[in-house]
Amino acid sequence: MKKQLEILKKIQDISLTRAELVARGAQDKVAEADREIAALVGKLEPRIHALYSRISANRPLFLAAMHNGNCSGCGMQVPVSAARMVKLAEHLVTCTTCGRILYDNPGAVASARQTASAGDDDEVPKVRGISRFSAAPLMVADLKAKTPQEAISTLSRLMAENGYVSDGDELARLALEREALLSTRMDEGAAVPHVRGVEGGSLAFALGVSHDGIVWDDSGEKVNFVVLSAIPSAGSAFFLKLMSDLMGAFRRKASRAAILAAKDSETLWKALDRATCRIIR
Ligand SMILES: [Zn+2]
Repeated sequence: MKKQLEILKKIQDISLTRAELVARGAQDKVAEADREIAALVGKLEPRIHALYSRISANRPLFLAAMHNGNCSGCGMQVPVSAARMVKLAEHLVTCTTCGRILYDNPGAVASARQTASAGDDDEVPKVRGISRFSAAPLMVADLKAKTPQEAISTLSRLMAENGYVSDGDELARLALEREALLSTRMDEGAAVPHVRGVEGGSLAFALGVSHDGIVWDDSGEKVNFVVLSAIPSAGSAFFLKLMSDLMGAFRRKASRAAILAAKDSETLWKALDRATCRIIR
């Protein structure tokens, strides 16, 4: 059953990426995503295939991680007996509230960043724009990496060192696993490697700017901007919005030039903030 769950996770990930590709009008890559999804769906056992078809017809997010005993899809508590079954992963268990298939992710990275909770509203910081998702220490103005592997591990380490994720090595491993399924390279000369299901905090990203460019995938095309993201289940829709705004910043001549000209983390952060402040709110 664990193998089937792994396949379901991959299907969900590619389906979410597909939605973004459709929005961007990237027809070639949509077709590539469709082929990947079809191949993965073909590996599902008949019973699980039926369950997947039924749930995914109504919910693009048909799978939800169980986090601290709660369904990350709807936030409701999973009954103790069901939670035990989710942990064993011998059978598929669905959330009694939202109907999503639940999975346990004990080995996966967790967001180590504590976000302001609803309880202490006096302390809720009034952060705006990209400050909600990143910070100057997560910016690399001169990324030396020569390969996607090096770029992803440099940025993963940075996210762990700054307390955004619990395990940088695991984040890098999962991001590379995702990358191998379908390249995240975009037309803007950017790549957006990411890991979904990083629960416990909010969406976070790190940016590396490579001046030489990094050959990202089989296309042979180079990328200058690498945006690595850790995405909680609840932040999926937000991720797409954030990426489209960042791509806008990389596309516009003036903001692209300012981002490329930055010599250190602080300057890069300011350039990125300025390039996105009117878009991301
Ligand atoms: Zn639920």
